[in-house]
Amino acid sequence: MYMKKSFFFLSLLLMGAGCASIEPAESIPETNSTQIEDPVSVDVDDAQTEPVVQDETATSQDSSEDQTDTSSVQVVDDNTNIVGSLFTTAQGAVDTRSLSSPARNSLYSCTATKMGTALDRSWVGEDGVIALADKPVVEGSIDWESSLNVAVDSAVRLITGNGLPDHKTGGFPVRPGSEASSYDRNPNRISSYSLSYEIPADPVIAEEPGCLPMGPIGVMLTGAVFYNALDADNRDAVANEVFDACEGHPQDRGQYHYHHLSSCMDYEDGIGHSPLIGYALDGFGIYGPFGDDGSVITNADLDECHGHVGMVEDENGSILEIYHYHANNEFPYTLGCLKGEK
Ligand SMILES: [Zn+2]
Ligand SMILES: [Zn+2]
Repeated sequence: MYMKKSFFFLSLLLMGAGCASIEPAESIPETNSTQIEDPVSVDVDDAQTEPVVQDETATSQDSSEDQTDTSSVQVVDDNTNIVGSLFTTAQGAVDTRSLSSPARNSLYSCTATKMGTALDRSWVGEDGVIALADKPVVEGSIDWESSLNVAVDSAVRLITGNGLPDHKTGGFPVRPGSEASSYDRNPNRISSYSLSYEIPADPVIAEEPGCLPMGPIGVMLTGAVFYNALDADNRDAVANEVFDACEGHPQDRGQYHYHHLSSCMDYEDGIGHSPLIGYALDGFGIYGPFGDDGSVITNADLDECHGHVGMVEDENGSILEIYHYHANNEFPYTLGCLKGEK
């Protein structure tokens, strides 16, 4: 059974000429902002009460482009409440496994050859099992005006928006004194920016899989991007870093992003194959954790890039047999490499 969900409504996006960029937004590696031993003073009161929903405080890549986004506020989903997590545990990676080639249960990194040494986290076992329910959560419940537009023009799928999620987020910077701050004192605040990606509408499997950069590797239909499974020191971000209740956090320029499946995405609850939840930058779709029979997809079901060929429903409700990625609760959680031609 294929669950149809109206995950987006096309609207006229009033774009300035500057928004017509066909290049992916600049890849923004995360800074090593998570292990601050001696916190600097930040104005957290301001951050807790004033969500950055418009451009005046955005640290975007191009502020001139941002000016146009205010006219296209668009709701992409009615999923606005933080909901419980599907998984209570995840299989993380706490060894220094190779990242230098495509392999199941790892990822093929463009920037690192092996994983960094894992930190001692009380919620991670020696076997790498992450007790998600025991992980501190960045507190807060802040609403955002998300904008996301997905349009197809012949061979191209154009994804534009303001980068903000359509669900609530925690309060960033992380509040000093909170439980989360004792592990991961993320000093960044969430900002809108001009999100613009042009990806293949009909992606083709490449002869050789491609490596994953740091920074965005795709866009979720929540309106926010997702990164690969690594933090700035090439550790398992899910094991090491602390996120909000929707499994997201901002990097140093305010870009809100996920490193794995968010409980605030619409992935359905085991009633047949999960619906589309986003697009990878090679054009292939990414789906939630459930396979055809409604059971959770494991890495053993997937190839080295964390995908497989199967019957899925596309954004128009059409059923087609195509390669697609799955987000699940096993490292590397989303993509292991890029399967599509560049
Ligand atoms: Zn991150
Ligand atoms: Zn599938």
